[in-house]
Amino acid sequence: MSRELIFVVEDEKHILQLIKYNLEAAGYRVTTFESGESFLNEVKNTVPDLIMLDIMLPGMDGYEVCRQVKQFPSTKNLPVIMLTAKGDEFDKVLGLELGADDYITKPFSVRELLARIKALFRRINTSSAEDSEIVKHDGIIIDTTRREVYKDGELIDMPLKEFELIKMLVKNKGKVLSRDILLEKIWGFDYYGETRTVDVHIRYLRQKIESDPSAPQYIETVRGIGYRFNDKARQVV
Ligand code: CA
Repeated sequence: MSRELIFVVEDEKHILQLIKYNLEAAGYRVTTFESGESFLNEVKNTVPDLIMLDIMLPGMDGYEVCRQVKQFPSTKNLPVIMLTAKGDEFDKVLGLELGADDYITKPFSVRELLARIKALFRRINTSSAEDSEIVKHDGIIIDTTRREVYKDGELIDMPLKEFELIKMLVKNKGKVLSRDILLEKIWGFDYYGETRTVDVHIRYLRQKIESDPSAPQYIETVRGIGYRFNDKARQVV
């Protein structure tokens, strides 16, 4: 059984050591970095299973590191947990828009840290094992095993969260999914109330799959509730 490899980027040495010690004790493999630059160098050679990224770093900050991680083809789908300090002006929405999967506020307990990591790995593993199939609708094809989305035969670039979102919408086509349900299923309980995150990702999805994002044919807004993937889509036209 391979143990998951976690890259931790954090400039405060004692926190870095604390995280490393506890993650290793829990059975993970850990590589530590004290700057975003050194991490980005290494991630070109070695792709980990998870990245923990401090926001306030000397030089390049965590947001920028995250942005770059999400641009490399080999790392863009990797889960990212952001580390923030209490009192930092952490922009949760910005972090999520950049593709972070979760965030932890310092000081955190070891138990909380491990619980978050476990939950994230569990979400990833169940989503790949449970539904390895191809979902088709109209000109849209979603290959859940390969995490690929095609529209009219063309491969569409789709980060993890957007992918999970469209997969869930298409699988439930014709049904209205509330923002809270989408948030809970895709982002987890911790983001309860942050429904703007859902809207932002819906906007990205529409830009990619709709012919006219301002008059969506596929992803309909159901006022005051949430979204529905239109199961009649082009048949109406
Ligand atoms: Ca820091």
